[in-house]
Amino acid sequence: MTMLSTDQNLNHVETQSTPDAKREVLQVIAAQQTSDGAGVSLKRSIGKHSLSELDPFLLLDEFRSDNPNDYIAGFPPHPHRGFETVTYMLAGSMQHQDSNGNTGNLTAGSVQWMTAGRGIIHSEMPQQENGLMWGFQLWVNLPAKEKMCAPRYQDIPPADIPEYTLENGAQIRVIAGTSNSVEGPVKDIVTRPLYLDVHLPANSTWSHVIPADHTAFVYVFEGEGSFGKTNSSEGKRITSNHLGILAKGESVAIGTGEQSVRFLLLAAQPLNEPIARYGPFVMNTRTEIEQAFQDYQNGTLAG
Ligand code: FE
Repeated sequence: MTMLSTDQNLNHVETQSTPDAKREVLQVIAAQQTSDGAGVSLKRSIGKHSLSELDPFLLLDEFRSDNPNDYIAGFPPHPHRGFETVTYMLAGSMQHQDSNGNTGNLTAGSVQWMTAGRGIIHSEMPQQENGLMWGFQLWVNLPAKEKMCAPRYQDIPPADIPEYTLENGAQIRVIAGTSNSVEGPVKDIVTRPLYLDVHLPANSTWSHVIPADHTAFVYVFEGEGSFGKTNSSEGKRITSNHLGILAKGESVAIGTGEQSVRFLLLAAQPLNEPIARYGPFVMNTRTEIEQAFQDYQNGTLAG
């Protein structure tokens, strides 16, 4: 059971009565420029040396470029096993295809939550030769008992992702979880994630309840904000292309000054299990990773 709510009023109203239950920012991580796939330029904040994982999150990439050379090569066929990949598009479009014949076109504003489970082999290729391509890919781990589950797709078109606006102008898209009684369209994910895309105007505050035992972070991708305190001058300033890891607590507060901010708010239940990871396979033991390679080579990973 999760209880999530946000402030409806222009003046900030506490959603939790105990001030020490607010989640402060533990650490700020700068996203690092890297490339993946056949040469797609991206900024990685989880899944690099500085933050190899944030249980249950394994990776977060932002790709944003209007130079086709940065994205045109895409992600040709590659395998996954043992976790979930979540693609959220803000601009441009991506064609998704797997070796079982499943296809989908990820357009601006859409999300694909793919549970790779025991294995899929897929490609993710740009559907455009020019213009802006912008979005995120998040990897979410699966617990040991679900790692070999049947693969599953939740392809959500833009119109099915609810968005609400508060009196202070804050706009919130609810991708997964519940916010202000608005339920996100992504369902039945084992780590019970909250995935929000939040736009907070200048000179305003906002707070949100997060289950106390869940791992949570924010990723700022436009503007800047002050995170962790209701009084924005006391919070931690986080600017674009930076991730803020939130301490344990029951809610998070954000304030803005002269600039607006746009960020992702993510939370999910940690798994507290050993992680054996190699490229596109994330299992619990090294033996299971070797098995994944063998299955891939034998052609038995997917299907
Ligand atoms: Fe992939």
